[in-house]
Amino acid sequence: MRKSAVLCSVLLFTFMLLSFGTVHAESTFIVADSLIDPLNGKVVSRPLVEIQGERIVAVTTGGEPPGNAKVIDLGSATILPGLADLHTHLTFGPSDFGYKGLAVSTTDQAVHGVANARKTLMAGFTIARNLGAKGYSDVSVRDAIEEGVIPGPRLQVSGQMLGSTGGHCDNNRLPVEYDVTNGGVADGPWAVRQKVRENRKYGADVTKFCATGGTLSKGTNPGVRQYTFEEMQAIVDESHTLGMPVAAHAHGTEGILFAIKAGVDSIEHSSLIDEEGLKLAKKNGTFLSINAYTPTYMVENGEAMGMLPESVEKARKLAEKRLQNYRTAIAAGARIVFGSDSATYPHGDNAKQFSVYVDLGMLPLEAIQSATTVAAESLGTVGDTGAVAAGYYADIIAVEGDPLKDISVLENVTFVMKGGRVYKSPE
Ligand SMILES: [Zn+2]
Repeated sequence: MRKSAVLCSVLLFTFMLLSFGTVHAESTFIVADSLIDPLNGKVVSRPLVEIQGERIVAVTTGGEPPGNAKVIDLGSATILPGLADLHTHLTFGPSDFGYKGLAVSTTDQAVHGVANARKTLMAGFTIARNLGAKGYSDVSVRDAIEEGVIPGPRLQVSGQMLGSTGGHCDNNRLPVEYDVTNGGVADGPWAVRQKVRENRKYGADVTKFCATGGTLSKGTNPGVRQYTFEEMQAIVDESHTLGMPVAAHAHGTEGILFAIKAGVDSIEHSSLIDEEGLKLAKKNGTFLSINAYTPTYMVENGEAMGMLPESVEKARKLAEKRLQNYRTAIAAGARIVFGSDSATYPHGDNAKQFSVYVDLGMLPLEAIQSATTVAAESLGTVGDTGAVAAGYYADIIAVEGDPLKDISVLENVTFVMKGGRVYKSPE
């Protein structure tokens, strides 16, 4: 064949491939009664969502899908973008606290993570951040989901939590002769940098570290700072250099301030945040992840769940003040993201937190935004998740009723689509 003839055949072949692609790219259409659009803060009635592959290609209103198209008719349901939970612990559960937790291995955690990832997805959470797991069990769960081996939300994971010796992210339940130290423990600026690098090496997307004590650890005080400013700065600098955002577990006022000043991306729990902390978080664009469902839940169920008596007592002491501060943070217009701290309550009940957010002063739409648009800003997934709009992943859920009138309807998700694939359908 002459050169030009070869070129012609190549062009023709390319053209055929392209047209084959366009003509046969099959669209699926979703129709429903209404769509909550958190991006524009409005409700769209009779939405028609066109999906090709894993993405949404068009969202129109009032139209009819083409005659022979594949249609998912959700009838009287309200559709919304898939929800996000920015603080989960998929690899363990409510029965793994106290001394019982000492018997849980890294492989046990990976197996539990498989089951809990499924529960979380079925509850309408199509994206989640896992903050703290034994070893890299959460990396394995994330990868298996991405490879399509198991169902679950899109995941960003931290691997081992960084923490100081004897701190909240260490394990203080056994005496010295057992020589038990959590994998993420590191002291001093260079050691914490090394630990961040190690987490990155083994697949972590995000850094989680403990900036204060906590309720569930033995012998720590939630109000007391852990790590020096220098150590926090080193964690943030190293993580950011490697492209990893930083989430700081912080209950106490000073730990919160230090962490925000060190440049963390989110404060987890934010329990004893004061006016200065709120102002600084706003100024620096720090997200506050508030787990408002668990304070009361832990006080009521902690003992039955096998938590250490001191943990239940710490939770009790903290609960009221914490909820008051959350109310103040909401009123002050803080950038609040939905983080539930799953595992401290049964997996799959994540959406129960929405009602608490509304009780604490959020509008239902704001509560939904905390788990969609604001969450996407925090996760760095704007344009991919948090909205039902052209170009976004086809991560769509449905509920019966109007969540803007009764936010608790989000606790009963009837339909879940992630990346164009249906995982749950109305019965
Ligand atoms: Zn947590």
